[in-house]
Amino acid sequence: MSENPEIQVGLITCGGEELPNGTLSRTAVRLVLEKYRPDDTVNLCFPFFLTGDEGGREFAASNPVITVDGCGKLCAFKSASRLAGKAPLSLNVEELLEQWGEAPYPMRGELDERGLALADRLAKKIAGEVDRLTRLND
Ligand code: SF4
Repeated sequence: MSENPEIQVGLITCGGEELPNGTLSRTAVRLVLEKYRPDDTVNLCFPFFLTGDEGGREFAASNPVITVDGCGKLCAFKSASRLAGKAPLSLNVEELLEQWGEAPYPMRGELDERGLALADRLAKKIAGEVDRLTRLND
């Protein structure tokens, strides 16, 4: 839990159903929300955010936000930047896999053992950024 319990980090993940990385990003964010940092994070539903969720926009305007995108098109990052009026911290799953020397993950839908391990590693990366942002905003 963060040292300042009033600070929560909003997490937005892209909706990339057509790419395996979209599944990795959603699974990783779910792990952060439910397992790694449940007290420090809130989910901002990307489609609802896009359609004009006032509560989500107000939250994003006044709290740290991390977007987790499946690829370099950065749909969640670009949309959240425009709608919240400030740039979130951007994580790009495709780029992270490259940095880690991982081959692209090939499967859509249900994750296999490797996919679950990658999602867990991504979740720990996101959790580390959550910790950094909550410390910065203490
Ligand atoms: S960031 Fe990439 S994977 Fe995610 S919705 Fe956009 S195009 Fe699809």
